[in-house]
Amino acid sequence: MLKELESTATSAAGILVVSEEDCRRLVGRKAAFDAVEAVFGAMARGDAYNFPVIREAIGHADALYGFKSGFDRAGLVLGLKSGGYWPGNADKGLTNHQSTVFLFDPDTGQLKALVGGNYLTAVRTAASSSVSIAHLARRDARVLGMIGAGHQAQFQLRAAAEQRDFEKVVAWNPHPDMLPRLAAVAEDIGLPFEAVSAEEVGAQADVIITITSAFEPLLMADWIRPGTHLACMGTDTKGKQEVDAGLVAKATVFTDEIAQSIAIGEAQHAIAAGQISETDITPIGAVINGAHPGRSSDDQITLFDGTGVGLQDLAVADVAARAAAGPGATRVTL
Ligand code: NAD
Repeated sequence: MLKELESTATSAAGILVVSEEDCRRLVGRKAAFDAVEAVFGAMARGDAYNFPVIREAIGHADALYGFKSGFDRAGLVLGLKSGGYWPGNADKGLTNHQSTVFLFDPDTGQLKALVGGNYLTAVRTAASSSVSIAHLARRDARVLGMIGAGHQAQFQLRAAAEQRDFEKVVAWNPHPDMLPRLAAVAEDIGLPFEAVSAEEVGAQADVIITITSAFEPLLMADWIRPGTHLACMGTDTKGKQEVDAGLVAKATVFTDEIAQSIAIGEAQHAIAAGQISETDITPIGAVINGAHPGRSSDDQITLFDGTGVGLQDLAVADVAARAAAGPGATRVTL
């Protein structure tokens, strides 16, 4: 009876609308970290699962459009992120990546909330590499290496910097003209910044984040020192690649979701070359849950293949929706 009343109340209250601006105000890095860490743990326990991803070239505006969806039975979060990539948007003063999250009531199927997904995508992607650094990087990591200097890289740098006592950032980008924007972020958080070669990033860094749109390796296996942790975040599509497959083979590999890691993640190339197999890859959630020890020595190279799953989007959108659902909230009815 109580459940019935709650459901009626939800529909009477209408659908919550959470704007991009609200998301920026309501979902900080710590809240995103906690939500992403919790859902990775739930995935590894089998309490949360992602549904098959839809991604299509729509034959209009050169756009890629799709859906990422899933259900977190532990957190009772059901929904989807819809959106994609419109390359012509920059000329219209819009972000090329566009997305919106829809959250549904898992008890009734009613639409509960519409949440802007652009800021949330960046903050949840940064939370993902950040969770990997928290669980896998050496405690004494001091130099943070960045390969990439685009939109996501700025979020990545801010989130990663909070995970260890970094003393310096070294960075390389295929387009050097983009580096000053990243240097400004480092300056803002009080870290010295040095633009170096990709090889030098490998020689100096204890933790390296790769976040580019590359289709060929930018970092080679023999450039990376023992004990380094890599978070490979840019490869989220078949054919993309940021690091040498030999480096993936040399490292102990962790991921958000094994199925995506081998199909569209950084591991796809080492798998295709027969250098590693699916059983060599561990879900980061197993480390979070204490079922896997994670890093086993200071000399081990650890690599997190962060492919980006729908449940991450739903987790941070749920944080935004809960925070927004007060007396002054914007609601609409269908
Ligand atoms: P952006 O367009 O702002 O920046 C692109 C970055 O890639 C820049 O560093 C640029 O110099 C570099 N780049 C562009 N073309 C390249 C090429 N041909 N070869 C090598 N490098 C190239 O993009 P962004 O929003 O910062 O996204 C960066 C990457 O992260 C994209 O590949 C995107 O798909 C991916 N991404 C992954 C996730 C995830 O969850 N894993 C989430 C969001 C974005």
